[in-house]
Amino acid sequence: SQIKEVEFVKSSERAKDCPKDGRPEFAILGRSNVGKSSLINALVRKKEVALTSKKPGKTQLINHFLVNKNWYLVDLPGYGFAKAPDSARMDWSSFTKGYFLNRNTLVAVLLLIDASVPPQKIDLDCANWLGRNDIPITFVFTKCDKMKGGKGTRPAENIRNFQELMRHYRVHPPWILTSSVTGLGRDDLLLHMSQLRNY
Ligand code: GDP
Repeated sequence: SQIKEVEFVKSSERAKDCPKDGRPEFAILGRSNVGKSSLINALVRKKEVALTSKKPGKTQLINHFLVNKNWYLVDLPGYGFAKAPDSARMDWSSFTKGYFLNRNTLVAVLLLIDASVPPQKIDLDCANWLGRNDIPITFVFTKCDKMKGGKGTRPAENIRNFQELMRHYRVHPPWILTSSVTGLGRDDLLLHMSQLRNY
């Protein structure tokens, strides 16, 4: 399940411009600053791979990376930029929704959740939206190495609270704890993806 080779393939402005070769793919999604670039770099062990623009307002693109000439890792624009006027609202551009609703090679969305902060409404809304649209999710909790996070709460407590809140929704995705600092969860996540691909 290890990553031997990663090749940047293309950036697409819309779902219909994405690669059409039918290879399976995993989309990586999360709030701005969730640790997405760090996680991608930890997964592929290559510093220069994550090419996403992190600045709000810049053109947002769907970036396809071909892994082991076999499957895609897809870097999606983040949501909930701190500077946005109403960051608590799900406000994806229509092309991102178009991607989710039309991409039939999508195996699962790796939904990144920052374990160093208490549950965020926008993440719950996102999970709920994906769940309602029957899009498979894996929760990937990031920054699990932090001893304490926002408001002095620990990752374990934040994760427990997040899971508790998710019970109100009808989605019960698998979840993996990760840290890009310690490497926690890296192999678990790679194995998980290989199992989903072969399922
Ligand atoms: P992105 O905006 O989602 O791509 O987030 P980045 O990967 O740029 O990370 C945002 C901030 O969180 C940076 O300051 C990182 O150093 C920090 N960060 C990312 N992953 C981890 C992690 O696993 N542990 C800790 N302690 N900090 C992290």
